[in-house]
Amino acid sequence: MALVVQKYGGSSFETPDAIMLVAKRIIDTYDSCNDVVVVVSAKTGVTNRLIALTHELCISPEGPDYDLVIATGEQTVVGLLTLCLNNMGYKATSYLGWQVPVITDSNHGRASITSVEPGRIQKDLKKGAIVVVAGFQGISDKGRVTTLGRGGSDVTAVALADVLGADICEIFTDLDGIYTADPTICKEARKIDKISYDEMLELASLGEQALQVRALEYAKYHNVTLCVRSQFNRNAGTLVTTEDEDMERIIVSGIVYDKNEAKIAVMGVPDKPGIAAKILTALADADISVDMIVQNVSQAGLADVTFSISKSDLELARKITNAIAAEIHAKEVIADEKISKISIVGLGMRNHAGVAARMFSALAFNNINIQMISTSEIKVAVAIEEKYTELAVRVLHETFGLSY
Ligand code: ASP
Ligand code: MG
Repeated sequence: MALVVQKYGGSSFETPDAIMLVAKRIIDTYDSCNDVVVVVSAKTGVTNRLIALTHELCISPEGPDYDLVIATGEQTVVGLLTLCLNNMGYKATSYLGWQVPVITDSNHGRASITSVEPGRIQKDLKKGAIVVVAGFQGISDKGRVTTLGRGGSDVTAVALADVLGADICEIFTDLDGIYTADPTICKEARKIDKISYDEMLELASLGEQALQVRALEYAKYHNVTLCVRSQFNRNAGTLVTTEDEDMERIIVSGIVYDKNEAKIAVMGVPDKPGIAAKILTALADADISVDMIVQNVSQAGLADVTFSISKSDLELARKITNAIAAEIHAKEVIADEKISKISIVGLGMRNHAGVAARMFSALAFNNINIQMISTSEIKVAVAIEEKYTELAVRVLHETFGLSY
């Protein structure tokens, strides 16, 4: 007998029929001699609506009462699914975060799990029940309801899988798993059978949407094997697990893009120590994270500093940069919203030279200009003009032999 943790996302609960399908899938897993713990998130759009509601009443809603509101989306789903399972003749028990309990710090809106008490769930499993848990929520050591950050029900699933010693943590999505590229823009994209935590972490932080970054960090740290698979069919999905030799042989595993980037260039900055630090410190103080940074070689004592940020931060970042630019007597600040970031990720890059060169040549051959570059041991990312996003993904997919 295995212990399976299954996480279903918002799109699995759109209608009563959809909830029934989820219940059937859970029952199939249970009837194949498995203990099953299910983690649910709110119906698609519900958390957004709850957040919007709090903003209609407050300027900057936050803290325990904010979490109390936005955690309710999961409560409805956990109740409905448990009712449905019971109605189908199966014993099921429902839990909110605080009832498990999932204990977190007091960082409301983005709390981290500090521990999970498995006792009550284990008792239910022993009695043959299916356990259904509301994702995304916990309780602080001060006894207040907390939430775990957007997409946080993935973390709940991973944390439960870890503490219960589950054999697998299945994350259900609309696709068959993780793909070599977005299949809606690259028809040659293939499902990946197995991928390492590190590659998946890079893909997720560079734009792949299937898994939340914090959940992946948790899974990596606690060695929880994940399986990303389709809620619509029984195909095997993608395993996210510790790296092995097969994975290391692959130079590029996947290509991702992110259109949520914007760029700011500060032109004619006096080329002396501390100037870039001044701009970046001001942005960091406003909680704006900067992604890629370039500074060109100075001419006549003046340089240009360009950096990228997420589009949603552009207005504030521009204001801050303008103020600093005036202070340091820079010539001009130029903002550009029409960029996107294309990244290639693969463990094999560690041992192969010339990967970036191949990437840049392929883009150049297609007349796609590279505006910024950033790299890690297992990724190369470039900022390009947004209109070339789809073309760049297809070209790189072909260049690195992912199409076969
Ligand atoms: N419902 C929460 C959100 O929309 C958590 C989740 O979906 O995982 O962020
Ligand atoms: Mg999600």
